[in-house]
Amino acid sequence: MRVLVTGGAGYIGSAVLRVLLAEGHEVVVLDNLVTGHRRAVPAAIAFVHADTRDTSTVRQALRDHRVEAVVHLAAISQVGTSVRHPRDYFDNNVRGSLALLDAMLAEGVGRLVFSSTAAVYGDPDTCPIDETAPTRPKSPYGDSKRFVETVLARYGEAYGLQHTSLRYFNAAGAFPDAGEDHRPETHLIPLVLAAAAGKGPPVTLFGEDYPTPDGTCVRDYVHVADLARAHALALAAPAPGAIYTLGSGGGHTVREVLEAAERVTGRPVPVVRGARREGDPATLVASSARIGRELGWAPRAAGLEDILASAWAWLQAAPDGYPD
Ligand code: UDP
Repeated sequence: MRVLVTGGAGYIGSAVLRVLLAEGHEVVVLDNLVTGHRRAVPAAIAFVHADTRDTSTVRQALRDHRVEAVVHLAAISQVGTSVRHPRDYFDNNVRGSLALLDAMLAEGVGRLVFSSTAAVYGDPDTCPIDETAPTRPKSPYGDSKRFVETVLARYGEAYGLQHTSLRYFNAAGAFPDAGEDHRPETHLIPLVLAAAAGKGPPVTLFGEDYPTPDGTCVRDYVHVADLARAHALALAAPAPGAIYTLGSGGGHTVREVLEAAERVTGRPVPVVRGARREGDPATLVASSARIGRELGWAPRAAGLEDILASAWAWLQAAPDGYPD
């Protein structure tokens, strides 16, 4: 299939395009490079440096490359920042998606896989969380993704758009030549590995008084390559409209991540104790039963150490991230 990947220069997008290429798809990437990295996209791949809000350029790209389906990951994604700057989030993520959909409808491209997020669930009543859980986003970021899902459902009914939304939990890990390079970095695993490598400050433990086995928060870390495969499966199984929750099938506390990182790297991870981070629920773990049942998806990563080992290998290969 000829596939446009928006946000293909980002962390998850660059993983998605590698899986699509390996499966024989023709890929074109569209990215505004505000948070993405040009070097995350292999040089041989067609690359359009544009924003999804630029409808005429997107239309041109869809025409030029005779695109049959779109995987839409282009977005900004920092929960905390979104609370302070909701305008940026609605403009980038909602207006950007509406403009992309306008371009697709105008060019007769009727298939979309949408990158959504566990942030649509907010504080869950029960765990594990699946697609039937109520959506109560706690941030403009979560709102922006949830709103696009609503738009997709309506466009599916009215215009026959085939769409699948993937609500990811904590993406982690790396490909040998593509990994996490957020500036600034806020995610636990890259911060832990940078601290182990002596390249970053000690890791601050955001609270040790949660109702969890060791008092630190439980999260569901899923390998980015497994997430990427879910996009390929969703493309191969067109659905009038589907939503899937994606996690690894289990959770780990922050302390478990630290201990696993020490085993994988063979180095100590310096830690300092900190206060709770505002808005952090104690436990977030997904049930991916539906995507397993309907699309045959299951994580291949053997577990947290596998994920950490891949991220550690990427850090060794690119100690300063992408060279741009
Ligand atoms: N965390 C932490 N110290 C850090 C960064 C994260 O203790 O420097 C904790 C955070 O409170 C959460 C978990 O690690 O419980 C994962 O956080 P991350 O920001 O990676 O992902 P989130 O779950 O917020 O999407």
